Amino acid sequence: VFVCFEGGEGSGKSTQSRLLATWLREEGYAALLTFEPGDTPVGRELRRIVLDPATGVLSDRTEVLLYAADKAEHVDTVVQPALARGEVVITDRYVDSTLAYQGAGRALAVAEVERVARWATHDLRPHLTVVLDLEPASGLGRFEGRDRIEGESLEFHQRVRSSFVAMAAADPDHYLVLDAREPVDAIAAAVRDRVTPLLVQ
Ligand code: C5P
Repeated sequence: VFVCFEGGEGSGKSTQSRLLATWLREEGYAALLTFEPGDTPVGRELRRIVLDPATGVLSDRTEVLLYAADKAEHVDTVVQPALARGEVVITDRYVDSTLAYQGAGRALAVAEVERVARWATHDLRPHLTVVLDLEPASGLGRFEGRDRIEGESLEFHQRVRSSFVAMAAADPDHYLVLDAREPVDAIAAAVRDRVTPLLVQ
């Protein structure tokens, strides 16, 4: 089973992915908790390049390709091996982040960005993507200036948010959208309710 958490800055993805992994392990499942970008040796280098403010402005296509390289490495060396071992894989960000940030955010042709990202990931899709939806102004406050992307305009982050919500609305069988302002425990419970039926398949 492959579960993905998506959302904007400060939406609580890492907290919720951690809580889900902990709960699954308590229930006796092998769960692998991972993230993008940067959860492989090569990915760590790529993450540094794309997010360090010192990198300055990257060509939009360069950015897409660096994120795609991170994904290829992540899927081939982390995600697919764990799924093959029968583990539940939980990732904090995946293809939808690229569609939202590099596609909608940077206003590149989303279909082309998607083609690259699907190729990089062998078109491996999560059984469930949880979108933690948050008004960008509230999420960004927590991280101001931490990396290159946080320096983007509010409009950029609004396009990112709308993109996540639109992807979810187009495919409700594979998405769960939750209000990130709800209490942490309530969100975690809603996630568990939606994941539970996937585990018996
Ligand atoms: O989720 P995390 O905080 O680790 O993400 C690091 C940064 O990378 C965030 O600022 C996020 O907006 C950015 N990012 C991006 N495009 C992606 C994935 C992440 O701009 N495809």
